[in-house]
Amino acid sequence: MKAKDWISDLRVYEPGKPIEEVARELGFDDIADIVKVASNENELGPSPMAIEAMQEAIPDMHRYPDGGAFYLKRKLVDKIGVEPEQLLFGCGSNELIIFLCHVFMEQGKNLVMGAEAFAVYFLANALYQGETIRVPMPDHVHDLEGMLAAITPDTRLVCICNPNNPTGTIVSAEAIDAFIEKLPDHVVAVFDEAYFEVMPEDKKPDVLKHIRAGKENIIVLRTFSKAYGLAGLRIGYAVGHPKLIGLLNKVRQPFNVNAMAQAAAMAALDDNTHIVETREMVFQGLAFFERELPKLGIETVPSGANFILVKTGNGREVFQKLQKRKVIVRPMDPYGLPDHIRITIGTPEQNQTMLNALKAVMA
Ligand SMILES: *Cc1c(COP(=O)(O)O)cnc(C)c1O
Repeated sequence: MKAKDWISDLRVYEPGKPIEEVARELGFDDIADIVKVASNENELGPSPMAIEAMQEAIPDMHRYPDGGAFYLKRKLVDKIGVEPEQLLFGCGSNELIIFLCHVFMEQGKNLVMGAEAFAVYFLANALYQGETIRVPMPDHVHDLEGMLAAITPDTRLVCICNPNNPTGTIVSAEAIDAFIEKLPDHVVAVFDEAYFEVMPEDKKPDVLKHIRAGKENIIVLRTFSKAYGLAGLRIGYAVGHPKLIGLLNKVRQPFNVNAMAQAAAMAALDDNTHIVETREMVFQGLAFFERELPKLGIETVPSGANFILVKTGNGREVFQKLQKRKVIVRPMDPYGLPDHIRITIGTPEQNQTMLNALKAVMA
């Protein structure tokens, strides 16, 4: 076999460990009491309305999905105030990141991202032999001025993850507006808003207003995997200028978003109560960790998402020790943060379990 060498050289993304895998590895018979707070999933589960919609959809699963997601698009159009031609759905927003790289990246071109930002931008870029320029993030926050300064004539994409995974940090709406104003025309800015629905209301930027105003070279990515609690279904969406959406649509497989996901997503968009409850759980949990962890001498990074980055020292070891206590978190050494772990906010009981386990491990 003669694989392309840039493919052979790729490193594989390390996802949050599934509960069953930890149970297998560590020989736990009972998995019911394992707490997984490693992948920023919604611990309230899917919306009850989405569950009902999925049950209703089962008998039609012999049909191919609607490749154009007509009804889901229509619902989203009403919700966020854009045109159907400005929307594209993906098998998770991860697939949309792949589409962006497929369309824009190649050898000799580069992608600009934050040094502590979501690893998938780099991995997707590497698939197409793009170079990655990493811009330092003072206090773990995207430096948008620095990112503008890093742009070269060969830059094709600049990715801003807001709030950023894994640091949880938010860039201000003013900084974003200033950035968009100065963005060169030859670069597409990708605003990854995977945690938009759980952001504090007063810190939410309005990137969509620029898209509504006709700006061609910016795109917003959102997902049903986080606040909406549908990570298992794999569905996310992009909002952009019809020209840009049209380009991405060229590399999309006709049935990339399954019918169950479309049915559930539509129902989830109608369930505002579920989102309100999710936000309350997240705000309460963040306050809990911000209050309790410093008492253990553990620093926290201010978060606008449903997770928190915390400095325990030796993150990988803490991760392994927590696992033995049936708590799964994420070690942050792959992000150049070897002293940190990332904890997803769960229910109050899960948060307490997490804290107790961390106390025991740190003692
Ligand atoms: C979770 C996450 C995604 C979404 O992934 P899906 O493929 O939609 O499940 C995208 N970007 C960031 C920064 C994330 O944390």
